[in-house]
Amino acid sequence: MPRIELAPSPSIPLHSLEALQSDALLPICKACGTQYSASSPIIEKNCLICEDPRQYVPSTGQEWSSLAELAESDIQKQNDKESEKRKNYLIEDDEDGRIKMIACDPSFGINQTPILIETSEGSYIWDCASFISLPLVGHLTTLSKPLRAIAISHPHFFTTSLTWSRALKVPLYLCEDDREWFQRSGDITHDDQVIWWKGEQELGKGVKVIQCGGHFPGSSILYWDRLGEPAPPKDDLPTKPTPVSGIIFTADTLMVQPTQRSFSFLWSVPNLIPLRPQAILSIQERLKYLSFTQATSSWPNRWIREDAKKVLDESVTAYLAAEGWRVDEGRLVELLT
Ligand SMILES: [Zn+2]
Ligand SMILES: [Zn+2]
Repeated sequence: MPRIELAPSPSIPLHSLEALQSDALLPICKACGTQYSASSPIIEKNCLICEDPRQYVPSTGQEWSSLAELAESDIQKQNDKESEKRKNYLIEDDEDGRIKMIACDPSFGINQTPILIETSEGSYIWDCASFISLPLVGHLTTLSKPLRAIAISHPHFFTTSLTWSRALKVPLYLCEDDREWFQRSGDITHDDQVIWWKGEQELGKGVKVIQCGGHFPGSSILYWDRLGEPAPPKDDLPTKPTPVSGIIFTADTLMVQPTQRSFSFLWSVPNLIPLRPQAILSIQERLKYLSFTQATSSWPNRWIREDAKKVLDESVTAYLAAEGWRVDEGRLVELLT
């Protein structure tokens, strides 16, 4: 997957600089990347997201950082004394250049890679990560298809999303059923564009978020119907046409396994606690009416490139069997052996 470095931007919008500056010192949990309000008493205790059994407080104890500190962290280059500041870079998908993962080096927190999707009618960011650099802001505010929204799959990736929304001046879509986990609710003002949604929410033409539950009540996926896109211009790679099928971006709601041939359904990812059978069936039901052949989770190299819907059905059957269940006419039946 090609890595794209981001050059310093000649002009960063004033509102972006103000947004980054005003949030620069807010506490950020070093383990999960969640940003808290300045007034939050949590800084005296442990991060609420990490205290939840779906995540974990490191055995070395709770530590805090901030956007200002993250920007100052150096990458120590091997074999010489030079160092570079932390930076963002993009990872462009091999098959579809309209999909780019936003990474940072050195990595931080859970190290998920938010995904930038550039459709013919506008661009979208799916999920968020703590660190946002000035070159990234410069890039995202000058896209040829302007950014229309940021949507977050679930609380583990809420991170610094309010800062991103302010800096990039785009609406932030968060699922109402996870509102209690958003640690900056008290900071939201009339000038902010935070949209609490439930069930299903269209973000733009061919792009919508769908609440599936399970991992968190509001856990969702993003769906992009690439069939609705105008025919792409002649591809750079004539042997590999741009995919036109529907694609789901699944985050932790259902996870592409490292084999890239199957999905897992986890209540806690780091603690390896599976979802209950009924929650797995609900996810399958929510995705039943979508037309898609591809899926990707929140890290590079986690793709199902073909027959993703069939893979989903097979994965549900395999996962339920591992938990001691099978499905008969839509009902769960306990396996006796
Ligand atoms: Zn945390
Ligand atoms: Zn998660």
